[in-house]
Amino acid sequence: MTTTSSGPQAVSAYAAFDPTTPLRPHTIERRTPTLHDVNIDILYSGVCHSDIHQARSEWGPSLYPIVPGHEIVGRVTSVGAQVSKFKVGDLVGVGCMVDSCLHCAACTQGLEQYCEEGPTYTYNSRERTTGAPTYGGYSTAIVVREEFVVKVHESLDLKAVAPLLCAGITMYSPLRHWRIGQGHKVAIVGLGGLGHMGIKLAKAMGAEVSLFTTSAEKGQDAYRLGADNVIVSRDSEAMKASRNTFDYIISTVPTRHDLNPYLQTLKLNGELVIVGALDPVDIHGGLLISNRRSVAGSNIGGIAETQEMLDFCAEHNIVADIELINMQDINTAYERMLKSDVKYRFVIDMASLK
Ligand code: NAP
Ligand code: ZN
Repeated sequence: MTTTSSGPQAVSAYAAFDPTTPLRPHTIERRTPTLHDVNIDILYSGVCHSDIHQARSEWGPSLYPIVPGHEIVGRVTSVGAQVSKFKVGDLVGVGCMVDSCLHCAACTQGLEQYCEEGPTYTYNSRERTTGAPTYGGYSTAIVVREEFVVKVHESLDLKAVAPLLCAGITMYSPLRHWRIGQGHKVAIVGLGGLGHMGIKLAKAMGAEVSLFTTSAEKGQDAYRLGADNVIVSRDSEAMKASRNTFDYIISTVPTRHDLNPYLQTLKLNGELVIVGALDPVDIHGGLLISNRRSVAGSNIGGIAETQEMLDFCAEHNIVADIELINMQDINTAYERMLKSDVKYRFVIDMASLK
């Protein structure tokens, strides 16, 4: 429901009001668009595991009520007078950030996700000018400054594009940063939203791709998605047989887990990149020293890189494998994700809330 495009808008949304009760309908106010803002009617919103972490205050106390959602695809309904990149009717995307300082060393390199002042996240964050809470994509409309809006290609299946805005860029960025491609053996840990994008992107970049999974039954799907090899991480013999194999591992596991069995599968100079769990990790020093291995982390991707990723996906015809749900099904979707029962991203059809 959008009441007006010029003043603040009352917008239908779904929110968590505390860490333990299910999400429920809520009405939020979107700010009066400024000269630099793009007003977007949301068509689809992907469901990221980070939404669950934050709805439930698993990363520290969240700002309640919290409206999650940072994989947004929509159409522009109005633009401020100073907006130059977008016009009414354009198909656009919004990912995990809606603002940053834009002048620090990180921002000026296009690394807004590492903004020295901290980026403004799409939800569970505060607007830089007013301090008002930000609300995400589980809603029918959003107002975002032009610099944090990206162009979406009309040629792709739009509902399956939404997950690229977080799951896609979170895998694309480390693959590019470490220049992973032809001649490299890369393993992705976990076949969920991020993991399945990791397989598709790494394969399109020319790498030999393996999957570590706890779910043996996902194996066939992994091959269909492009994996060359599947290793069931609960199978100690298979883990032993994989020692000293990979140049890179990207781990999407959402909770605290033992990294050491994966470290053993890295070869000389191998690198394990964590994009999943934020929790403390125990690392066996001997495993790093013996093969000059290292462990790193990576946070989403910058705005220019997000546009580059969308262009790359359009060129290679890559989208997410999704299950479309109604907004009213969100709590069931969360429970299924927590059981690793997702193939491979839930996307909310925002028409169900309009
Ligand atoms: P997801 O769709 O729920 O997938 C996670 C997958 O990890 C599961 O499907 C499962 O795959 C595997 N898994 C789950 N629990 C496990 C365990 N205890 N041990 C080993 N594997 C396990 O989640 P997602 O949306 O891809 O997000 C994954 C994580 O990345 C979340 O923590 C999220 O917050 C984080 N994230 C980080 C960034 C960033 O910028 N760094 C961006 C987005 C999300 P199998 O069934 O194949 O084992
Ligand atoms: Zn996400």
